[in-house]
Amino acid sequence: MDRDKILLTPGPLTTTLQTKLAMLRDWGSWDSDFNELTARVRDSLLKILNAQATHVVVPLQGSGTFSVEAAVTTVVPRDGHLLVLDNGAYCKRAVRIAEQAGRKVSMLSFDESQAVDPLALATKLDSDKSITQVFLVHCETGTGVLNPLQEVADVCARYGVGLIVDAMSSFGALNIDAASVPFDALIAASGKCLEGVPGMGFVFLKKSLIERCKGNCQSLSMDLIDQYHYMERTGQWRFTPPTHVVAALHEAIRQFNEEGGQSARLARYRANCAALISGMTGLGLKLFLEPRLQAPIIVTFHAPTFQGYSFKALYESVRAKGFVLYPGKLTSIETFRVGCIGAIEVNEIEQAVHAVSCALSEFRK
Ligand SMILES: *Cc1c(COP(=O)(O)O)cnc(C)c1O
Repeated sequence: MDRDKILLTPGPLTTTLQTKLAMLRDWGSWDSDFNELTARVRDSLLKILNAQATHVVVPLQGSGTFSVEAAVTTVVPRDGHLLVLDNGAYCKRAVRIAEQAGRKVSMLSFDESQAVDPLALATKLDSDKSITQVFLVHCETGTGVLNPLQEVADVCARYGVGLIVDAMSSFGALNIDAASVPFDALIAASGKCLEGVPGMGFVFLKKSLIERCKGNCQSLSMDLIDQYHYMERTGQWRFTPPTHVVAALHEAIRQFNEEGGQSARLARYRANCAALISGMTGLGLKLFLEPRLQAPIIVTFHAPTFQGYSFKALYESVRAKGFVLYPGKLTSIETFRVGCIGAIEVNEIEQAVHAVSCALSEFRK
């Protein structure tokens, strides 16, 4: 069977046929048609965030982590001090990035089953005046927990420290308005809720930082200020652009707008998430998070408790039926994850739940 499997993962995601078809061309990096495509994508990205007045957007080649690394090393000065609000795997990755880049970094850790606490952040900022930036993961994809972006941004603004937001798995789906959420940098990527293909990220940078961040980054290819100035000057990417990825993202954004933008996407993902939770709990599977903390992006389930269960066997059985699940990312307890994002609807989710149901009854035999 050569039909693509439905990807119930946090990226790469299932994309539409039109998005895939947008990649059937070769573009030259000097080509004015391609440079227009890049310019249009950048414009649309700023509009999604309502950030035209306050921020610029700088695209960068590579997976999402490359853009996280670029944002951290471009925004945090070499003698700065980054505080990472930690409640999961992607938060810990940001800590490693900052450490490896030689930045001073501290962690304020919370249980992985809880959202980060803005009051605890305020207490920390009261007691440590050396912190220059705070790092927040909006939706911690390791568990699916939604963190309180607005409240954290308000605390940072009150204390006069910068905020870097990893909005990789939320941008495009959850409402973020740059006019009411103050931040220095916000990071997302082509292959998540915009439903493009993976291969590039982009960082929204506060306009007033462009001059101030010059020289912060110790890496040439990660330097967003250099990438920004080159792009402004020439309309081109510094170094070989991911041409097919840009073309696919351009088409994916056209469909995003046609669908009704962020609110329509959120409504579809919410419906997917509700169908997933009701179907899976109906099979006796237990949610890891309290429902009020759950973002409609990816859902963590406790592994079934019966003897002989293994994620690998569940994965293989469900995969044979056309659906790809995702392993858990928790160290202490066994879980698995199912995404609700991508070019899928309740119909696909219901079929996936049915596939899980069949797989579980195979185990019980
Ligand atoms: C997907 C994701 C990333 C980036 O991961 P890559 O594998 O590098 O694309 C970063 N942060 C979060 C929260 C994510 O969901």
